[in-house]
Amino acid sequence: MRSALLGFLFLTAAATVPAAAKAAGPATGIEQLIAGSRYKAAVAALDRGHDKVIEDIVTLTEIPAPPFKEQARAKAYLNMLREAGLSEVEMDAEGNVMGLRRGTGPAGGPMVAIAAHLDTVFPEGTDVKVRREGTRLSAPGIGDDTRSLAVLLGYVRALDAAAVKTNRDILFIGNVGEEGPGDLRGVRYLFTKGKYKDRIKYFMSMDGTDAARVVNGGVGSKRYRVTFKGPGGHSYGAFGLVNPMAAMSQAVLDFYKIDVPAEPKTTYSASVTGGGTSVNSIPHEVFMEFDMRSVSPAELGKLEKSFLGIMPAAVAAENRSRSTKEGEVTAELKVIGDRPAGSTAASSELVQYALEAASAHGLKPSLTSSSTDSNLPMSLGIPAITIGSGGRAGRAHSLDEWIDVEKGSSLKGMTVSLTTLLAAAGVEGDGPRPAPRRR
Ligand SMILES: [Zn+2]
Repeated sequence: MRSALLGFLFLTAAATVPAAAKAAGPATGIEQLIAGSRYKAAVAALDRGHDKVIEDIVTLTEIPAPPFKEQARAKAYLNMLREAGLSEVEMDAEGNVMGLRRGTGPAGGPMVAIAAHLDTVFPEGTDVKVRREGTRLSAPGIGDDTRSLAVLLGYVRALDAAAVKTNRDILFIGNVGEEGPGDLRGVRYLFTKGKYKDRIKYFMSMDGTDAARVVNGGVGSKRYRVTFKGPGGHSYGAFGLVNPMAAMSQAVLDFYKIDVPAEPKTTYSASVTGGGTSVNSIPHEVFMEFDMRSVSPAELGKLEKSFLGIMPAAVAAENRSRSTKEGEVTAELKVIGDRPAGSTAASSELVQYALEAASAHGLKPSLTSSSTDSNLPMSLGIPAITIGSGGRAGRAHSLDEWIDVEKGSSLKGMTVSLTTLLAAAGVEGDGPRPAPRRR
């Protein structure tokens, strides 16, 4: 691969090595990229276009996009991708919208995909009007993940204004289904049925604002809704009959006896419950939603296995301990969330690009794990990371969510992630490249 990419950029990486330690070796690819005239022109264009990015943030934030109801925002974003200058702009069968920025390499070759998710956690009817106080913009969903959608548009305009040519095609995506019940349906479609599924060499999800935080671990999760049913009856007159609530309670108690490792981080929770008929009735139906997570596919599998053993055992215990003359207790299990775990090696080029891009801009990069759209490609062995869009933000997933678009940190973060994108796509014509430094 290296010889084919002469004229393009590679970098070595020192994930956690501070900038000072870099002084010894020859300039890395990233330093050469940043020193390049085209790159500088792109960053200058990004600077000039910063106000337009903020305008787009407000426009998009004020179009509600609840889970499974992203269509209105998707349509608006489709037009914005087209206006920004991308080609082959389209919406796929799952509702993802995307556009291509052609590189100079062979058509149909390996490409780089960068995505931001269209959906927010907020249900229909939520007031999404943006409130401004100085550089602080507040509205539900404005940070997670609407800012990133607008930043991607800013990248397209800046790269065109600076006439940057990349070797690889770049696919810009606004995907559906990242939040909660969406269960990664957008990226799942992209990598299993989408027309570009076999071409994506590197995947980047832009989610969150912190440009020094590089997510290379995907916290997988398995979520179930268990509905316990029984005959029900009068709480006084039918006392002694089996009670689905007792079975459910036993299940929760046994669930909380499961031992899980601290490393790899593995967690579980009995989270949402409901059901019952009336206070003076033995219920005939109650439910519980369970969340299980781990950065390790193996540990997640082990935890799920224990969970699946506990449910029937709790039901059987209840049917043994009370009368079943009016019917037995049963438990119905429904998968309501399935996000695969996975990771991209810290030593992989894509992760090194991101770490080096952050250090080169004076940030102290860190590697971490989280549950993001990158989980899906990671679980398929495709190098994937989640990176920040710049600026500051807070109170994600709450009604008083905010972002701060103060230009200094906003532009810096945007520049860091743009650098990672360009390193992955390969920038043409910005000088020869030395062999990457190995540490
Ligand atoms: Zn998000």
